[in-house]
Amino acid sequence: MVKTTAMVPSRSGSTQNMAANIKVLVRVRPFNAKELGQNNRTVIEVLDENQLVFDPKEDLPPFYYQGVQQPSKNYLKRANKELRFAFDCVCGPNRTNQDVFECATKDMLASLMEGYNCSVFVYGATGAGKTFTMIGSKEHPGITYLTMDHLFQTISGHQMDREFDIGVSYIEVYNENVYDLLQPSSTPLQLRDYPQYGVTVAGLSIRNIKVAQELLDMLEFGNQNRTQHPTDANAESSRSHAVFQVYVTMRCKTSNQCRMVKLSMIDLAGSERASATGCIGERFKEGANINRSLLALGNCINKLADGSSYIPYRDSKLTRLLKDSLGGNCKTVMIANVSPSSISYEDTYNTLKYAARANKIQLSLKKNIINADMNAAQSMKVNKELQRRLEEE
Ligand code: ADP
Ligand code: MG
Repeated sequence: MVKTTAMVPSRSGSTQNMAANIKVLVRVRPFNAKELGQNNRTVIEVLDENQLVFDPKEDLPPFYYQGVQQPSKNYLKRANKELRFAFDCVCGPNRTNQDVFECATKDMLASLMEGYNCSVFVYGATGAGKTFTMIGSKEHPGITYLTMDHLFQTISGHQMDREFDIGVSYIEVYNENVYDLLQPSSTPLQLRDYPQYGVTVAGLSIRNIKVAQELLDMLEFGNQNRTQHPTDANAESSRSHAVFQVYVTMRCKTSNQCRMVKLSMIDLAGSERASATGCIGERFKEGANINRSLLALGNCINKLADGSSYIPYRDSKLTRLLKDSLGGNCKTVMIANVSPSSISYEDTYNTLKYAARANKIQLSLKKNIINADMNAAQSMKVNKELQRRLEEE
């Protein structure tokens, strides 16, 4: 067996750390038809449920070791990185959306019910499997549906002592503007940060839902409204960040204490560099803005990982929007999607480095316990009021 380099150890040397409030999962999708049709090799070797090797060396045939024959020049020329990464969870190409849900978000719901804000990101280059993981299809529902279905099951187990109100919203951040995907309009919405309500999108529509099935049509409708443009990188490229948010208001029937928690599920735009997509003009501007948001997200992750007291949330719309969903009183799951093919060598390496950085974040949590009586409908009123004020300004 070829010796590997342990480049990125997991936190505290442990691969499972349930107490940590950021969990990092890497999902490797299967080869697609285009990749299979080309002369390419596998750049990811999944070792087990927690570890993978990037750019593994092919095992030398035994006669090389025995000195009977020298390795070929081509073999020696290949400068493999041969890097071993450890994460909270590694899902290989055969794992399903249900498997990803079980590793990534199932446990998180217990934290949500206890009063912690939670957020889930899917990160990776275009075509790496982010939307498949997050939204999926009718045959393979993604983790948004699976998580919401589990949330409703969890809630039904608490009906004796608590009352619940569930509201959802779905927005996109495109070219540093925020748009409502459930109530499409060409006018961007404004972000406001109020000490009492946290980060608020003025005029955003929030829909009350009672069962997860109601989501399916809603997500499909919202996704049809996402801004999509073909680029050279992928014909179905999503150039926007899609942010699905769930507002859970729970009132304890005996104490009247009220908790408001937020679950955010974010399907990030492709992380490939704007220059790599072969775009000019408007498409290049999109690329630059996507990168600005992703860069800002990366900077926030770096600062959080370093334990900095100043986190630059204000550097982009995405990070402003997620200020209360990343760090502080929030549990975060980062799912890094990668292709197994050498065609995506640089993108996969960059995604793994990004994920490894996120793996280092440790934060202290604060629960969201408020005595205010505000549910999703009232939150919507606040939004409408904000929109009215903005129109007056
Ligand atoms: P992204 O959102 O990252 O740009 P997609 O989720 O749209 O990528 O995936 C690109 C293509 O690969 C889609 O056709 C999708 O159905 C397919 N795909 C992605 N992940 C998987 C998977 N785990 N299993 C099967 N097909 C997948
Ligand atoms: Mg996508």
